[in-house]
Amino acid sequence: MKASDCKEVFALLSQYLDRELPDDICQEIDSHIADCPPCIQFVESLKKSIELCRECAPAEEPSPLPEPARARLQAAYEKALAERRKAEG
Ligand SMILES: [Zn+2]
Repeated sequence: MKASDCKEVFALLSQYLDRELPDDICQEIDSHIADCPPCIQFVESLKKSIELCRECAPAEEPSPLPEPARARLQAAYEKALAERRKAEG
């Protein structure tokens, strides 16, 4: 898998976790994530963040992830990708 695939997965992740994507796209993401440790890690941290947001936010709040949390996660994700590229030489 190339890093560019990870970026595509990242771009779709919040919709993926909200079950807003067509089944074929979900399957592509599933199969990518299954074989991509940085994405596994990222999905887990994103899920946790969403759960935390839902615990502290009002139930009628439609946004799954506030912008600061999203920016923080994106930074963590970019860092994970950079480390992975470094490890691959
Ligand atoms: Zn990936």
